[in-house]
Amino acid sequence: MRKLVDLGLQDSTGSDEFDAIASLARDILECPIALISVLGETDQWFKAKCGLDVEIGPRETAFCNYTILSPDLLIVNDAREDVRFKNNPIVVREPNVVFYAGAPISIDGIHNLGTLCVVDTQPRQLTEQQIQHLRGLARATSGLMKAFTSKRQAEIAKLSEMDKGHEVARMANFLKQTASLSGVGGWELVLESQKLTWTDETKIIHDVPLDFVPKLDEAIEFYMPEARPVITKAVENAMATGVGWDLELPILTAQGRNIWVRAVGSPTYRDGVLVSLNGAVQDISERKLNEARLLKSETSARSTAEELRAILDNMEEGVSVFDKDAKLLIWNQKYIDIFEKAPGEVREGVKLRRLLENEKFRGNFDGDIATHLRELFCQLDRNEPSIKQFRTKSGKIIKSTHAPRPGGGWVGTHSDVTVPVLASEHHEHASRHDHLTGLMNRLAFNTWIEKFCEHNTDPNRCLVLLLLDLDKFKHVNDTLGHVVGDKLLQYAATRLQNCVRDEDVVARLGGDEFAVVLECAREESIQIAGIIADNAIRAIGSVLDLNGEKVEIGVSIGICVSPLGKFELDELLTRADFSLYQAKENGRGNYCYHDPSLVDLPSRQSRKNLRVGSAA
Ligand code: GH3
Ligand code: MG
Repeated sequence: MRKLVDLGLQDSTGSDEFDAIASLARDILECPIALISVLGETDQWFKAKCGLDVEIGPRETAFCNYTILSPDLLIVNDAREDVRFKNNPIVVREPNVVFYAGAPISIDGIHNLGTLCVVDTQPRQLTEQQIQHLRGLARATSGLMKAFTSKRQAEIAKLSEMDKGHEVARMANFLKQTASLSGVGGWELVLESQKLTWTDETKIIHDVPLDFVPKLDEAIEFYMPEARPVITKAVENAMATGVGWDLELPILTAQGRNIWVRAVGSPTYRDGVLVSLNGAVQDISERKLNEARLLKSETSARSTAEELRAILDNMEEGVSVFDKDAKLLIWNQKYIDIFEKAPGEVREGVKLRRLLENEKFRGNFDGDIATHLRELFCQLDRNEPSIKQFRTKSGKIIKSTHAPRPGGGWVGTHSDVTVPVLASEHHEHASRHDHLTGLMNRLAFNTWIEKFCEHNTDPNRCLVLLLLDLDKFKHVNDTLGHVVGDKLLQYAATRLQNCVRDEDVVARLGGDEFAVVLECAREESIQIAGIIADNAIRAIGSVLDLNGEKVEIGVSIGICVSPLGKFELDELLTRADFSLYQAKENGRGNYCYHDPSLVDLPSRQSRKNLRVGSAA
């Protein structure tokens, strides 16, 4: 690489285009400071600067020092949290840099010689679109720098070939104007002879042949009508005051192209006498076009952002968008409302962990935060959405979906599903429970046994099924009425539940028929079944006081004890039913159970395999 001095880059003058880019970068990236810098061996020069008035600084402390080592952007959202920069003097002292985003600049596509960067004293987060703009502006800066340096080299080389003396001085002035621009043509008007000279490049810009000989009035004619008085006035002013001009004006070329040029000119004096006007002209159409495009895309980005904001604010769901570092980027009011977040808690850059800690503090988050985060990140890494439903302390049910974003991070949508979930839970409960007693109904009971038998097949364990039917219940209905009958059914259910363990299942199969099912070790199954049956007969059979009405009821119980995996549900029920029938036959108020060693059902007449018990 050539030295910056050779390239003329350390000179911070004559760089309006660079200033324009820095100013655009500052506006588009919404930062107070934008800089275009080149890095020398020990120093950093600022080729353009907006919002910071420095010419030069030490390379050692420059963030750009890191940027030029990388092929792409360097973005530091919060330098105070970055080990590389938190002790940097420009972070801990003036100008207290906190946010930095820089893109490398190269004129040969290999070596980075400087950067276009934006800086803020607040932590920030660039949008994807702003990042793209920064890359685009850096490319434009690289192109401009390339044009600038090659022109500079050409002019310097040309100059060195010329003789010293007056002619050289005049040409030097001529080229100085030219060299201050890139892609530039030169011109000279000798006032005495009114001879106007254009360089080849000027002719190319004006779409005229290289043997074209320009005349002064013709030259002015190239400017668009609205630009002619502007340039004329500038020339007159220069001749009167000696102050040159630097204008951006539209021209119409000989080929009818509408282009924009930067027109620069100044008077040259010899021995105090004005002898000529010299200047340069540069086609800046592309830059103008890019500026217009950027402005348009910036406007459209703004209107897109406004549209997005309107959509977010009108959404039924709460929305929270996080970046790849789990920091909050975007949210809507609904997000705050659903979670009933405290004022100031939700802010740009806050980490999900902090938000969850606050939820836990409020009693709205039950789990372990570290585990929750680990599971969420694993799922997002697999590009899978995470869907979670949870209840807040106040009983609100919130459903949260976290869907991965293509560039990292995720979009969270949160809905208050309390009403539909409670309705569905109620419906689900009603479909599986008996409305009178609150016990499982027959459908739920059957499902439970089927599922249980599917997953439990240890032959050393037994399933104990007790079928219970109230004795002479019809008589209660007939003599005391259905309402008392219903009450009796409810009491029977409660008392039955008190006779079993929490893990045992009690169901009302219909009418005055109940069932108990439990699992236990094979060797104690008969004993346990007998104990429960005895307790149930005693509990249900005691005298009840139903609204002052003394009611006495008995219960008969049929029991089937079976090793796990031996019988299907239907067969279990048939065998228990058979035993119940036997208990009724034996005079009611007793239980009868079926020997587990039996495979075949005993005949209804045969009682030799049935054992009988009673709570008496
Ligand atoms: P058994 O000793 O042989 O069991 O005779 P029972 O009188 O108890 O009559 P059974 O078990 O055959 O019939 C049960 C009766 O329960 C039939 C029906 O009138 C009554 N029943 C069914 N469902 C309900 C209900 O929800 N509420 C009330 N009060 N009675 C019901
Ligand atoms: Mg009955």
